[in-house]
Amino acid sequence: MTFTLSPGALAPGARIGILGGGQLGRMLALAAAGLGLKTHVFAPEADSPAFDVCTERTNAAYEDEDALAAFGASVDVVTYEFENVPARTAALLSDLCLVRPSPAALAACQDRLVEKEFLAGLGIPVAAYMRVDDAGAMARAVAQLGRPSILKTRRFGYDGKGQALVREGGDLAVIFRSLGGAPAILESVVPFSTEISVVAARGPGGAFVSYDVCENWHENHILKFTRAPARVAPETAAEATLLARAIADALDYVGVLAVEMFVVDPPGGSAGPQTLRVNEIAPRVHNSGHWTLGGAQTSQFEQHVRAIVGWPLGGALRLGAEVEMENLIGEEVFGFEQYLREPGSSLQLYGKTEARPSRKMGHVTRVAPAKPA
Ligand code: AMP
Repeated sequence: MTFTLSPGALAPGARIGILGGGQLGRMLALAAAGLGLKTHVFAPEADSPAFDVCTERTNAAYEDEDALAAFGASVDVVTYEFENVPARTAALLSDLCLVRPSPAALAACQDRLVEKEFLAGLGIPVAAYMRVDDAGAMARAVAQLGRPSILKTRRFGYDGKGQALVREGGDLAVIFRSLGGAPAILESVVPFSTEISVVAARGPGGAFVSYDVCENWHENHILKFTRAPARVAPETAAEATLLARAIADALDYVGVLAVEMFVVDPPGGSAGPQTLRVNEIAPRVHNSGHWTLGGAQTSQFEQHVRAIVGWPLGGALRLGAEVEMENLIGEEVFGFEQYLREPGSSLQLYGKTEARPSRKMGHVTRVAPAKPA
């Protein structure tokens, strides 16, 4: 068979390697299958949800170089479903095949200090921050940034893990030790009115497609609801999208990324513009983009797959007046029948066997729900 392919595009039937086997990997593999592509999931956990739905699977540690070599040789392009892939793993694979997004883009988002410096270097507004490597630096940072402020480990933080609030009267040495004394940054608290994210895709030639800016609510530091479109001023949404594009271009990014931002209202209810602070970049498909599966013309998962194989990106228009995504956390999943009965909703269950507290078990997407959130 001969195909007409854009320069650099992978052929139909190409094999995609996915590092990580969670729900994001699972939904990526399902989207790839929809485009006739094969997937090989590499994950250290034997019960990885993505293993159920891929073409090939490797259950090995990210440090297992023999397993990585075999994995890299078996695929045309490697991608990730989470950002904490060791740098050496990504580098090793990039000697064997395409790695998208690039290991350099991944590295820019793995470490909060590197990420903040990258953003600040682009002139993108972020919360005031200082590097904290030891208790002395912690005291100096708090003296500079004041309280309340937030201490965050530079690496491996997620869902509020690796963070501590520095309150009035809190013992700084104790707070620093509570995060294991790991290299960290201190951030000033941003007085935000709304948390938003921009989920967007960039292709290898620089094509850029963004979904509607969406609004996020967290419960116990875990994303609970996303709503698209975000209820922010149109200028704020446009500015957020421009920032995401500037970030994607600067990283020469290929794939879907999510940029989380804080919206700050003008002081004292005055009429000035809202301002933005970028909080973090996820170099992958993101929970706040789940609404696009069923709620937009092309899901973020299909969009990511299209981008990394060099195929044209899909339309990103929202399919309802508004779309809401609700995460089902822990035992909430046991009520799944009620979500199946809701008109206009669709349900994804991740196939996880144990409904542990705080574990993301599935999500519901409601297109144009009758009652706005
Ligand atoms: P993160 O792990 O950086 O996404 O932070 C988790 C959550 O903590 C965010 O979604 C915010 O609700 C809150 N948060 C993090 N950093 C700040 C900040 N500098 N100011 C205010 N709230 C923050």
